[in-house]
Amino acid sequence: MPFTPLCPSCRQPTEIRRFAASTGGTLELDLCFACQGMWFDPQENTRLAPAAVLELFELLHQHRGDAHHPLADRLRCPRCSQALAKGYDVAQGGRYVTYRCAARHGRFSTFGSFMVEKGFVRHLSTMEIEALAERVGTINCTSCGGTVDIRHDHACPYCRSALSLLDPQAVDKALARHGSAARQTAPADAASPDALADALVALERNRAREERARQRERLEGTRSDEFDLLTAGIEMVWSLLRR
Ligand SMILES: [Zn+2]
Ligand SMILES: [Zn+2]
Ligand SMILES: [Zn+2]
Repeated sequence: MPFTPLCPSCRQPTEIRRFAASTGGTLELDLCFACQGMWFDPQENTRLAPAAVLELFELLHQHRGDAHHPLADRLRCPRCSQALAKGYDVAQGGRYVTYRCAARHGRFSTFGSFMVEKGFVRHLSTMEIEALAERVGTINCTSCGGTVDIRHDHACPYCRSALSLLDPQAVDKALARHGSAARQTAPADAASPDALADALVALERNRAREERARQRERLEGTRSDEFDLLTAGIEMVWSLLRR
């Protein structure tokens, strides 16, 4: 039997999924939807084919109603169980959190960090932040999941990232580069800050409603009262790409 790696955060068995590799063939990633993160063996994150990104969005969309929980204070390597070292990297999309094994077994990345690293996000404009702040008080940072009071903070107090949102155009571009399923160009940038904020709030309400419905069946802890920029962005990207 192949061994099923445990999630570095919740220590439950991860879901192993096969994705297309840019070098040809496939690679396996260990995903935890409750912790919203995945484990990369060394170099795996750079070997993920752009086409695999669409599959990843489809998976995240399928699991949109899953219960989420915050990351554990201490994350452990699925290979050697050592505590992972938390650090920050900077990509074009901004700062993102990484958790690495000192013995070089790989690293854990939240879905949000992965999106920032791959440049699938854009920074929210001041007007967009203000439009959101009129509708919701606190949001979860796309990059680290931390709670941000957007009436006062225009950057995340935990990871110090600028507030960012998944950018359908950036995702579309990555897919188009590989000639795979370049659909309609996303009209998100043409939308006014108010229209965008309304759309995001509506998406998150729908998701939260689904999450609550599922939890009535499975009594679990909930964060469904929170507004999560990452999951709202995933819904937005997914609804544009699947057309
Ligand atoms: Zn987990
Ligand atoms: Zn290790
Ligand atoms: Zn953050």
